[in-house]
Amino acid sequence: MGVSNQTVKTAYDSAMENFNLAADALQLDENIRNMIRSPERILEVSLPVRMDNGHIQSFAGYRVQHSTARGPAKGGIRYHPGVTLDEVKALATWMTWKCAVVNIPFGGGKGGVTCNPKAMSQVELERLTRRYASAILPLIGPEKDIPAPDVYTNSQIMAWIMDTYSMTKGYPVSGVVTGKPIALGGSLGRNEATGRGVYYTVCSAAEHLHIPIAGARVVVQGFGNAGSIAAHLMHDNKARVIAANDSRGCVHNSKGLDVTKLIAHKEKTGGVVGFPDSEPISPAELFALECDILIPAALENAIDGSNAGKVKAKIVGEAANGPVTPEGDAILEKNGIFLIPDILCNAGGVTVSYFEWVQDEQHLFWEAQDVYNRLERVMKTSFAEVLKIRLDHKVSMRTAANMLGISRVAEATTLRGLYP
Ligand code: NAD
Repeated sequence: MGVSNQTVKTAYDSAMENFNLAADALQLDENIRNMIRSPERILEVSLPVRMDNGHIQSFAGYRVQHSTARGPAKGGIRYHPGVTLDEVKALATWMTWKCAVVNIPFGGGKGGVTCNPKAMSQVELERLTRRYASAILPLIGPEKDIPAPDVYTNSQIMAWIMDTYSMTKGYPVSGVVTGKPIALGGSLGRNEATGRGVYYTVCSAAEHLHIPIAGARVVVQGFGNAGSIAAHLMHDNKARVIAANDSRGCVHNSKGLDVTKLIAHKEKTGGVVGFPDSEPISPAELFALECDILIPAALENAIDGSNAGKVKAKIVGEAANGPVTPEGDAILEKNGIFLIPDILCNAGGVTVSYFEWVQDEQHLFWEAQDVYNRLERVMKTSFAEVLKIRLDHKVSMRTAANMLGISRVAEATTLRGLYP
């Protein structure tokens, strides 16, 4: 996170500020704003879990449904020590606009548990997950709210949620979560979908700006699922990934890192640090590197008013949710840096989650190439729609994406009317 003396703005503050900017640009009616702005439902739970040492520890958990105007709520579950209700509300809000930007029939939701999964055994994680799944059970279901993986959750955790839900129903319900293992009704291509979607939107932006991907210098902050897969696709297409980091440290090589080997190194050692043929740099240096494409792929508020001025990239592709604050946005825009906002850039994950849900509902599964082709079409169409709004209305890419998402949610809300 950039260090700044200004009052710290929360992720939900940023989400609301961006909502207001887009709603103003749309000249959205005040009544509609009041209907779509705030989360529809918030559940806060306390999760007692027996730890391996015999002690019982209670964890705070949340599930927020921001909107079901266009379909069931959809959004991941985050396990992280920094999870707060404010963060989950922001993430749920962004999911609503994101699903609408890529025009899939879902609303927005998000869940989280405040915990440190890195310090827990697999058995403790399973107990926590099953307790959390049973606590949020009244809210979730294939027609109501469909969780998926997010930071520090994965396909195994989705499998435990699917099993817990199915055991209480008395029959298998694969469509209750997405991002499942293939053996349980997961979709081919889901694991790499977010990174692949980032790659497609970065290619669209590069084409718009006449920057060839071959030879482009790429920097990735957060070498996890989204970041490493986007980096791998860039590398495969002859871009030069010159720096990457994770929570433990950063590695840099101006000639380019071998991304396949870096992924293997991270799998083996748990982090990117110590990768041969690289030198360590600080996170501040990583953001300030001379490069063409910067991909923040870790957590919120990484680029703010204090460090946005140092960014030298031509394109910033937000693989993470909310990595640039509104102050950071204004500086990047002023400096002519092309931003691909999160609700567009990382929407590949939820798009293939939608494909997974469709396959589960139909009990009919697609080949990987079908998934990639459909995903590419969705991402490139959505990019073109957002870019058109930016050019027509002379607004930032973030405001343009929010205008597209919010206008679709507003239309659905108007058509449905106000109950009762
Ligand atoms: P992940 O757990 O696979 O990876 C997160 C990575 O970020 C890890 O390598 C971690 O070490 C690193 N990290 C954590 N704190 C960091 C810091 N301060 N500096 C640098 N690196 C740090 O998670 P993910 O699924 O790749 O999610 C990353 C981001 O992408 C999140 O914002 C998430 O909401 C967003 N996202 C993920 C998906 C998805 O399908 N996985 C979809 C849409 C958006």
